[in-house]
Amino acid sequence: MHVLILGGTTEARRLAELLSAGTDLKVTTSLAGRVAAPRTPSGEVRVGGFGGAEGLARWLREHEVDALIDATHPFAGTMSFNAAQAAVTAHVPLLALRRPGWVPVQGDDWHEAASLEQAAELLPALGRRVFLTTGRMGLAAFVDLADLWFLVRSVDAPEPPTPPRMEALLDRGPFTLDGERDLLRRHRVDVVVTKDSGGAATAPKLTAAREAGLPVVVVRRPPVPEGVPTVAEPKSAVRWLADVLDQWTFPDAG
Ligand code: NAP
Repeated sequence: MHVLILGGTTEARRLAELLSAGTDLKVTTSLAGRVAAPRTPSGEVRVGGFGGAEGLARWLREHEVDALIDATHPFAGTMSFNAAQAAVTAHVPLLALRRPGWVPVQGDDWHEAASLEQAAELLPALGRRVFLTTGRMGLAAFVDLADLWFLVRSVDAPEPPTPPRMEALLDRGPFTLDGERDLLRRHRVDVVVTKDSGGAATAPKLTAAREAGLPVVVVRRPPVPEGVPTVAEPKSAVRWLADVLDQWTFPDAG
């Protein structure tokens, strides 16, 4: 039995680990190749695009994949649509493993944006010193904001075009609440921008912003393909697989 995990997330790595431990299931994780030194998942790994939905469907057939799990980041919208289409074409069962979005709590001052461009439009009215945590891609949306200063945190260095007044901070989560508090204070940040990525690893910035009374621009998630069964936890994905691959022995998901 061969399972392909579309990866690039903590949940994808956890699922690969659960499936690789003590089973004879062949597990391949696919990475887009965006990060120079990714954390390596258990099992086999392939890197790079497939060539659209058609390329993925071909790959599924050629590698005799029995089940496909889309465990990409909630903002990897193109890959999720390609997965839905390829699964239909290649007649392979598909599950989406997607962590829930964040929910505001009392004291939060959130401003929703439909895109990075809309986030950029909101910023001048909210602050002057921006902590931008949306990753190194898409910074072109902020290039015209010459009056604002940006602290851009990303795993790899941002590539031009970037905002004219910018400091890059290369780091990857998980982040701590103390660390985020200190960072906001040290850089005199007065507004935070984030995608609604969800999950615990990068949530402390939201708590730190709330404590400091700072506004947060939250970029909404892109649409997801309809009709794809979705779970939030790697363990639930293991259970789905056990149902789908009924000859396969269900491992103890802990
Ligand atoms: P995207 O816009 O949805 O996808 C663009 C193209 O990248 C896809 O059409 C596909 O190329 C290729 N691709 C994406 N994910 C792939 C994967 N897991 N394996 C092989 N090819 C993949 O994706 P993205 O937002 O650029 O994200 C790329 C990767 O980074 C994803 O794996 C995602 O999980 C991870 N990531 C993304 C974010 C984010 O904020 N977007 C954050 C953290 C991690 P082909 O059409 O040629 O197949």
